[in-house]
Amino acid sequence: MDERPMLSIVVPVYNEEENVRPLFEKIQAVCETIGDTYEVLFVDDGSSDATFAVLSELSKRVRQVVVIRFKENAGQTAAMAAGFEFARGERIVSMDGDLQNDPIDVPKLLEKLDEGYDLVCGWRKERQDKFLTRRVPSIVANWIIGKVTGVPIHDNGCSLKAYRASVIKQVPLYGEMHRFIPAMSTVAGARIAEIVVTHHPRRFGQSKYGLGRVWRVALDIIAFKLIIFVFALRPEIQEPSRWQRLSNVLFRRKQKALQAASFLSLPFFVLGRVLFGSANTAALSCISLAIALLALGWITENKIRQANQELSDLSKLARFFIFRCNRRPIRFFGPVGILLFILGGVLSLNPIVMGIGILVFCFGLFGELIAFANAKHVKDWTVETLLNTDGL
Ligand code: UDP
Ligand code: MG
Repeated sequence: MDERPMLSIVVPVYNEEENVRPLFEKIQAVCETIGDTYEVLFVDDGSSDATFAVLSELSKRVRQVVVIRFKENAGQTAAMAAGFEFARGERIVSMDGDLQNDPIDVPKLLEKLDEGYDLVCGWRKERQDKFLTRRVPSIVANWIIGKVTGVPIHDNGCSLKAYRASVIKQVPLYGEMHRFIPAMSTVAGARIAEIVVTHHPRRFGQSKYGLGRVWRVALDIIAFKLIIFVFALRPEIQEPSRWQRLSNVLFRRKQKALQAASFLSLPFFVLGRVLFGSANTAALSCISLAIALLALGWITENKIRQANQELSDLSKLARFFIFRCNRRPIRFFGPVGILLFILGGVLSLNPIVMGIGILVFCFGLFGELIAFANAKHVKDWTVETLLNTDGL
């Protein structure tokens, strides 16, 4: 395949042996009607069933089928990130590999994209999943995400989305972040729209997620609010002058850092006040303020280095947060921090244990900022096999 296709379709698949072939046929039929040249990138996320065998057979027959196979299961977000990286089209569409999304909606998504948007999200208005364990948590989570991130999308979790490649390729993705793509895209300045799409019940294979994600998504929301807040101020595209850099450090960035510090310490302050009156409040908020300032200072410095195109000196730390903390520092340190905080409260209101709890929680948040800033350099996935990607 030498010429660049106009449209790239990215499909993460993990143990979907019965689904990939019928899905490809549906995609193929739709792409033929659109008339653009296209490629379909199946990202095999370390499947243990026959998914890869089916895909490699398909890729031999059809040159539009590109297969990226991971060495081991790295998660849906990693699979999407790899797909976006290898995609060559100017427009990209992502969808699930289990036939729950319907390729029939792709032309509608693209039409909307061409109205001048960078990201068009599908909204599974008539969602065909279990009501209590899937739909209710999703409605609540989407409402909160909308309020917290300021991006009021009805269905963040719908994988069927269309993107302008130049924009989505800029968005760093790591550890189960695909549910926050709309919110994260605002960091890259994306214009976002939403349209209603079809949704089918799963016919073959099993869902890979359960109710456990409710708690994890709750932690994510806190982390992403902070990420958006810090990174909404993007490093300048052009090389800033020495004076600009200095003034950035002294004024704009410092202001941001202070705002972020107060954002971080306010909840602790309020909590401290409610729980024990004024005595320990000062200690608690001082600790969180200090941590927040420290973290922000570090991030800021790193961002300035990046703007200077020097290699990030934090990538080692990012490796630690991404690989040693199960890809998501807040999910790792968050629960420990909360536990210590509660324990400190139960244990005769021991402010030191509570302070350590806050510290640990903040460390998790700090980890998220570091991981986000370095996600483009420190990838949490390894490719084992590439099929039909010659020339990439
Ligand atoms: N998936 C993946 N890696 C994983 C889990 C899921 O690539 O570790 C893929 C899966 O094969 C499917 C999509 O991501 O194509 C969505 O997963 P699933 O259908 O299980 O999620 P649900 O629709 O139940 O939210
Ligand atoms: Mg599904």
